Amino acid sequence: MQPLQPSQPSPAAGAALFDFVQRHPRLFVLTGAGISTDSGIPGYRDARGQWQRSPPITLQAFLGSHAGRQRYWARSMLGWPLAGQARPNDAHHALARLGEQGRMTALVTQNVDGLHQRAGSQGVIELHGSLASAICLDCGASHDRAGLQDWLVSRNAALRDVIAPPAADGDVHFESPLFAQFQVPDCGHCGGILKPDVVFFGESVPRARVDAARAALAAADAMLVVGSSLMVYSGYRFCVWAGQMDKPVAALNLGTTRADAMLALKVEAGCAPALQALVSRLEQGAAGSR
Ligand SMILES: [Zn+2]
Repeated sequence: MQPLQPSQPSPAAGAALFDFVQRHPRLFVLTGAGISTDSGIPGYRDARGQWQRSPPITLQAFLGSHAGRQRYWARSMLGWPLAGQARPNDAHHALARLGEQGRMTALVTQNVDGLHQRAGSQGVIELHGSLASAICLDCGASHDRAGLQDWLVSRNAALRDVIAPPAADGDVHFESPLFAQFQVPDCGHCGGILKPDVVFFGESVPRARVDAARAALAAADAMLVVGSSLMVYSGYRFCVWAGQMDKPVAALNLGTTRADAMLALKVEAGCAPALQALVSRLEQGAAGSR
C-alpha cells in the first residue's frame, strides 16, 4: 500500500486549482497562519477552526493592566528566538514566484511573521502588522523588536532559561508567578507604553491598510485564500466583498473555513506541495506557449 500523504493535493484538486488560476489571471491572494506552520510557527486553530490551547491576548488585556503587559512581554521574550529565526518555506517561495509571474494584484497576509518578504514577495500588505517592531503608544516612535530582546533578557534573568512550547505570533504557552516581577520595556524617547506593531484581537485593522487591500481585490479577477480558516473577520470580510463584487473565491486550506459555503473551489491540501505544483505547472505552461 502507498503511505497516506494527506498534505498532497489529489491530481483532480491540483488540476482544478491550476484551471482556476489560468482562468483568473489577476489574483487577490490572502494568506493566514496555515502557510507558516511548515516554518515552525504554530497556527491559532485546529482543523475544525477551534482554538489550539488558550486564545491569544486581546487589546483590552494588554492595555487594561500592567500585569497584562508583563504577561505579554514575558511570553514574547520566550517566543522571540523561534519567531526571529523562522525561515520562509516552499509555500512562501511559490507565492513569490506567482507574484513575479505578474499573476497577483496584491499579496495580503494575516500573518505578522514577515516570511513573505523574506521569500522575496514585493508590496505585501500585512493586515495585522508585523512583529519586527514595537510602537510607542504615547509618542508614536517605532522600535526595532530585535533590539529589545537583549534588554528583556538582561532585565529578566529569572525567566531567560525557560523552554516553552511555541504559540502563534511569537507567543509561547507558559504561565508563571514570576510574571509579576517581569520588567516591561518602555519607550526610550518618552517612557511611554510600548506595544508590538501588530493588530491584537479586539483591535481594528488601520483603515488605510484595509482600503489598499480592498482596492487590490477590486482590481482582481478572483480571490485565492491560502492557509486560513477565515475565522477572524478582518480576513473573512474580503470573501464577503469578493462575493459582492461577483468575484469567485478559491481556498487552499487543511480543514474547515468560515467561507466554505461561498467557495467556488476548495482544495484541502498542504500549502507548500499544492503551491509548488501549481507554480511549476504554470511555468511549464508559459514555457510551452512561447
Ligand atoms: Zn515614546
